[in-house]
Amino acid sequence: PVLNSATKVYIAGHRGLVGSALVRALRRRGLPDPVVATSAELDLRDRAATARFLARESPDVVVLAAARVGGIAANAAQPAEFLSDNLRIQLAVLDAARAQGVPRVLFLGSSCIYPKLAPQPIREDALLTGPLEPTNSAYAIAKIAGIEHVRAVRAQDGLPWISAMPTNLYGPGDNFHPTASHVLPGLLRRFHEARESGAASVVVWGTGTPRREFLHADDAAEACLHLLEHFDGPDPVNVGTGTDVTIAELAGLVAEVVGFTGRVEFDTSKPDGTPRKVLDVGVLRGLGWAPRTGLREGLESTYRWYLESLALPE
Ligand code: GDP
Repeated sequence: PVLNSATKVYIAGHRGLVGSALVRALRRRGLPDPVVATSAELDLRDRAATARFLARESPDVVVLAAARVGGIAANAAQPAEFLSDNLRIQLAVLDAARAQGVPRVLFLGSSCIYPKLAPQPIREDALLTGPLEPTNSAYAIAKIAGIEHVRAVRAQDGLPWISAMPTNLYGPGDNFHPTASHVLPGLLRRFHEARESGAASVVVWGTGTPRREFLHADDAAEACLHLLEHFDGPDPVNVGTGTDVTIAELAGLVAEVVGFTGRVEFDTSKPDGTPRKVLDVGVLRGLGWAPRTGLREGLESTYRWYLESLALPE
């Protein structure tokens, strides 16, 4: 197997949502702790430093889970950073891994790489068939460049590098920033604070009609390990549940989990983003993998994690 007690795995982005879940997933399997470096130790946008790091560590497997990520508002506010930071991280890590001849690389992208109006559920072959959703096109273009980078190295050097495209992820360690976060952690926090303060209503952005798919980060990490062990091919593999909910339904679920009984209001001056984004997960299922965590259960455990994180000192 690719992953055994002698495999040296480097996880770029081990403090992020997926990266930290990958560290937990390796531990659950009784595998050695991966090689990691904090962003203070290694700025992955720094080509020279990243090349030195990979030359020194010489890992067998690299998982590129480091990225500048954020919700719809953060992407709209800072498209230059989302483009530039992600391109620089990818170029530094993938070029350094190529220079070392790292045999196995898993590049993580995002479901926003697909065209705004791609047929739903979105299949992998929808990539580059139409215009992108403008609220996150800078991020998406950077991630598409990463997919092409992996394909190019495969074609030129014959290395079995692969790409996975996870849907909207959530879970412990997520970013709960009130405005920069993704919808699920953003709403968990807003509904929690509304219940605490006794507010009569909570504002949800947009019309509530967009449909989104949510996958727990622990499931995403298990899917990544499964792909490392069982998949090889140039096309990205979708990682999701194949099921979606409307933002209004998500808000209702969050209200129940948090115990908020007031009104939900929709602020239609905020953007909806893409109308629907649900992945076709046939390829991943065909490889024998399925998610375990239902949305309600995942919301409950993530809310418990959020409450515990509030209780911790900074
Ligand atoms: P997207 O999947 O790339 O569009 O990213 P988001 O997770 O940021 O947003 C998903 C949908 O949830 C969009 O239609 C948002 O307008 C909507 N939404 C509703 N309330 C919020 C919120 O408080 N934060 C965010 N980020 N999105 C929200």
